[in-house]
Amino acid sequence: MNTPTECIRQRLTWDPRGPAPYESMWSILLKVAALNSLSAAELHGLLSPVQSARTRRNVRLSSIDLTEVRPAAHFLGITESRLKAGSLEALGFDSGARTAYAPRHCPECFRLGYHCSLFDLPFVAVCPWHSTYLCHGCSICARALGSRSSNQLQNSARWVCRTCGVYFDFHQHRRVNRIDSGTEFAIQALGDGLTAWWTGFCTCFPDSYSLAAPLLREQQETSSLHNSWRLGLIEALVPHPARWTFTDRPLLTHAVAPIRGFHLAKASAKVISLGAVDDSAFKAMRRALFRRFVARHRKCLAELTRLGIFERSALDSQRVCSVSVAWMSWLMAHDYGGLKREQGAEFKLASDLQDIRVGGHAPDGPGTGLQLAYANFFRVWGTIEALIPDRAIRVCIVKPLDRNCDLPHRTIHRSGADSVELLVPDRNALEEPASERCIQRFRARLPMYQAGAAYANSGWNATPDICMPFTIRQHGNGIRNTYWYLEV
Ligand SMILES: [Zn+2]
Ligand SMILES: [Zn+2]
Ligand SMILES: [Zn+2]
Repeated sequence: MNTPTECIRQRLTWDPRGPAPYESMWSILLKVAALNSLSAAELHGLLSPVQSARTRRNVRLSSIDLTEVRPAAHFLGITESRLKAGSLEALGFDSGARTAYAPRHCPECFRLGYHCSLFDLPFVAVCPWHSTYLCHGCSICARALGSRSSNQLQNSARWVCRTCGVYFDFHQHRRVNRIDSGTEFAIQALGDGLTAWWTGFCTCFPDSYSLAAPLLREQQETSSLHNSWRLGLIEALVPHPARWTFTDRPLLTHAVAPIRGFHLAKASAKVISLGAVDDSAFKAMRRALFRRFVARHRKCLAELTRLGIFERSALDSQRVCSVSVAWMSWLMAHDYGGLKREQGAEFKLASDLQDIRVGGHAPDGPGTGLQLAYANFFRVWGTIEALIPDRAIRVCIVKPLDRNCDLPHRTIHRSGADSVELLVPDRNALEEPASERCIQRFRARLPMYQAGAAYANSGWNATPDICMPFTIRQHGNGIRNTYWYLEV
């Protein structure tokens, strides 16, 4: 006579239609467990071919290992490829470094008993077949399998997440998926498009992979800008997948040569004195920067340098010249001597080139220092351009030791000096909106700042903070500005 486990081993109860296209492993496993009254431990015991692997398992299981796909497919009576679409790892989105797993749901999909594996990509914002914004990831859902006991299941073929309200209810609906065939077709096509976009990038540009990989991790607020550049890097190489909306607006990075190589030393090793930076080399680089970016905004720069500190703290997002602000901020950071000692130029700043880092790395010589200073202009300008549409920006002059050119970068470890490659925003993509704004301002014959706000700033007891030389914000009625502190 067969033991209960052997009975189960032959085939698990499952809707003959099986998983929908790109249905997540999380959703499949929860349904299988509910329909077959299995606890997480029992389920994984079935699927894990190796005994040792079973005992090591902790209860917070979100999906199954790739080694378990084959037995799982066997028990469900379907082909392996249908299950692979449920795992980001199997689809080529290598999620090895992702820490917190929390399923994100589309409310419409969830009503139909469907959860898409691609919704767990942190950069996906909208369900493309329902045009609905995805809910924030739910970590209680992620623990659902582990927290289920088989007793609970026998009483009720229904599971509800007490935090986000997601449920599977097999009392009401015995069919595991209730999405119609038209939507299934759309999911298949759109899912294929997104995976082809990512795998196309990975296979054609493996060198750039580590720059893009952080997109797969849950990101903190402060890095969201970097994601825009990372998405821009991919899009410069592989066109955007149809109908997918991302959480960050992709911003173009250099399409032809996306990465610059820098040979840098570990900042912690010792402070490397670049005291002998050739003054003429620095001036040549500064001239090159000016000619390349600032020359066509000469008039704007003249206007900005004439402004007092209260006007500079009331710059208007829709009219400001981002190039001039970036240039002056850059001068304050790198070249105190180059800034005329006019009104409001009472900055006491270091001009040492070596006081700039990339993450944990510092320049290993004057040449690298110059390159890094050059890249820093892209960072300052690129950040302003990226933020202007929806954030207020406050430029902060930081201590030289805190100065960090935090462009997305990767480190290539070598014996001796490490090499760092930076992702630099695309110059043309920055120049276009910047020029457009300046042209509009000239046409309207308006200043870069809001006179009323500047007046309000300069109250009788106002003390300007010289470490915050520029503030750019929206000045319309009822607008609440969220500030981004841009450190230079
Ligand atoms: Zn949906
Ligand atoms: Zn939940
Ligand atoms: Zn301008």
